[in-house]
Amino acid sequence: MHTPADCLFCAIVDGGIPADVVWRDDEFLAFRDINPQAPLHVLVIPQLHRADAGELAADPALAGRWIAAAAHVAGLLGAAQGYRLVANTGPDGGQTVDHAHLHVLAGRPMRWPPG
Ligand code: AMP
Ligand code: ZN
Repeated sequence: MHTPADCLFCAIVDGGIPADVVWRDDEFLAFRDINPQAPLHVLVIPQLHRADAGELAADPALAGRWIAAAAHVAGLLGAAQGYRLVANTGPDGGQTVDHAHLHVLAGRPMRWPPG
């Protein structure tokens, strides 16, 4: 079991809540976002609970592997024209699930600035 017990994404890692898993290794899990904002929208999460990107980045090597995992997933799923990685962090960042996740968005041109 992972912690905390009431964490939605820990429950996905543990298999208690189903998800459309597209890739995993021994450290990370990638699954499709339930409310996709682009033709390709996948979340890449650490299997061990970290509350947000800042907490995860306390281990810089882990943060590097996290980004490498997201880039790998983008390539795996055919984001040939590019992709966007987003880590909404904290209330002003728009974070709604308190388990670190990288959004991998692709399949359409992205706008800037984000909302
Ligand atoms: P954020 O708002 O950056 O914290 O992103 C949380 C993301 O999790 C949102 O894009 C949601 O659509 C997504 N989400 C919430 N519940 C699930 C779920 N059960 N399976 C897949 N994605 C989910
Ligand atoms: Zn968690």
